[in-house]
Amino acid sequence: MHVNTLILGAGAAGLFAAAHAGPRTLVIDHAKAAGEKIRISGGGRCNFTNLGASAANFISQNPHFAKSALARYTQWDFIDLVDRHNIPWHEKTLGQLFCDTSAKDIIAMLRAEMEAAGAQLWLETTIVEVSHTGSDFTVTVERGGKRATVKASALVVATGGKSIPKMGATGFAYQLADQFGLDVTDTRAALVPFTFSDERFKPLAGTATPARVTTQDGTSFDEALLFTHRGLSGPAVLQASSYWQEGEDVTVAISPELDLASLLKDQRRTQGRKALTTALATHLPQRLVDHLADEVDLSGNVGDISDTRIDALTSHLLNWPLRPSGTEGYRTAEVTLGGVDTKGLSSKTMEAKAVPNLYFIGEAVDVTGWLGGYNFQWAWSSAYAAGTAIAGRLG
Ligand SMILES: Cc1cc2nc3c(=O)[nH]c(=O)nc-3n(C[C@H](O)[C@H](O)[C@H](O)COP(=O)(O)OP(=O)(O)OC[C@H]3O[C@@H](n4cnc5c(N)ncnc54)[C@H](O)[C@@H]3O)c2cc1C
Repeated sequence: MHVNTLILGAGAAGLFAAAHAGPRTLVIDHAKAAGEKIRISGGGRCNFTNLGASAANFISQNPHFAKSALARYTQWDFIDLVDRHNIPWHEKTLGQLFCDTSAKDIIAMLRAEMEAAGAQLWLETTIVEVSHTGSDFTVTVERGGKRATVKASALVVATGGKSIPKMGATGFAYQLADQFGLDVTDTRAALVPFTFSDERFKPLAGTATPARVTTQDGTSFDEALLFTHRGLSGPAVLQASSYWQEGEDVTVAISPELDLASLLKDQRRTQGRKALTTALATHLPQRLVDHLADEVDLSGNVGDISDTRIDALTSHLLNWPLRPSGTEGYRTAEVTLGGVDTKGLSSKTMEAKAVPNLYFIGEAVDVTGWLGGYNFQWAWSSAYAAGTAIAGRLG
C-alpha cells in the first residue's frame, strides 16, 4: 500500500494533522480508540486551549521555537473550529477553555474533520519497523494478526511522550528520532505531584489551600495547593514540577494574598481570649493549623502573642522551604518535559532538517506547555504546521 502521508499516533496532534495533510493520508495507532488522552483530559471535559496562549507559556531549550506555529494556528482558530461544530464551552479560570458537556465532543470533531479530509484510521496496529529507502518511508505493521507494509512519501511522528504508559504512551518518538539521527533532550515527568518519602503530609491529605509555589530558578505559580497521602499536588504544584530539578527545594507561601499579620493583630484586640490555634483556623484549614503546631510555637491565646511571634509565624507561612523526594513520575504525569530537540526541526513546518518529509509534532517535541490548555494548543498548532506544509508540497 502506498499513501502520501503516514501519521504515527492518533492522539490530539496526529488526528489534527490528518485533517490538514491533504489526500491519501493514513493514521495508525496501537490503541483500541483514538484520542484516549483527550477523553480523560480536563477531568473528562478537555481543557482544549487557553485564551492567553503564547510562547511564554511553554518550556523548551529554544524558547522561540514554538512562536511560529502558535502564531499561524492560534487559540482563536481552534475556538472558531469548536464553534463551527456547535460544541458548547466555557472559560473556567485563568483563560482555560473547557467543553460544557464532554471531551468526547472534541474527539468526535477531530474524527469528523479527518474523515471530511478523506484520511483513513487504523487502530490496534503495531508498528514493527520503520525504514527510509530512496524517497519513501516504509513502515511494517501488524494488524489483525497479519503483517502489512505501508509506503509513504511523508512520515509524521505524533506518538506523544512517555506520560501514562497505562494509556499506551511509549518512548517510540524518541527511538525513531534517534534512528534518523535527530537529538533528543533529556526527558522527565512534568505537571506531576511531588512526593515526600516520610509521608509527612498524610494527616493533611485532601486539604486544599491557595498557595504560591516557587522553584529555585525563581519561577512562581499562584494557584491551589492540595496535600495528598504521598505529598503535594494541585495546580500550583503541578506547574512548579515542570521547573523543579531533583534535589532542589521549593518554597511554598500559604495564602499569600491574605494579610495574616493584620488579621491576627485585629483578633488580638477583639478576640484576645481565643486560643491562637482557633484564631488561625478562621483563616487557614484546621488540619493545616494542626500540622503547623508541630513546626511553630502556636501555644497560648491570641491576645498574648507579641508582634515578634506574629511576624515569625507569618514569615514561616510565606517562606516554607520544602524538599520533595521526587515526583509521582510518568504514572500520573500529564506531560513529558523535553523530547525531540528543536534544533533538528524547522519551526515553520516541524520537518526534520536533515531528513526531508519526516515530521515530529505534539508532545514528542521538546515543547512543553503549562497546565491550562497549552499542551493541546501546541498539539493543534504543531499539527497544523506540519499538515499544511505536507498538503502544500504533496497535495
Ligand atoms: C490525565 C491527563 C489530563 C490532561 N489534560 C489536559 C488538558 O485538559 N489540557 C491540555 O492542554 N493538556 C492536557 N493533557 C496533556 C495532553 O493530553 C497532551 O499534551 C496531548 O495529548 C499530546 O498530544 P499528542 O497527540 O502529541 O500525544 P497523545 O495524545 O499522547 O497521542 C499519542 C498517540 O500515539 C499512540 N502511540 C504511542 N506510542 C505508539 C506506538 N509505539 N505505536 C503506535 N501508536 C503509539 C498513543 O496510543 C496515542 O494515541 C493531559 C494529559 C493527561 C495525561
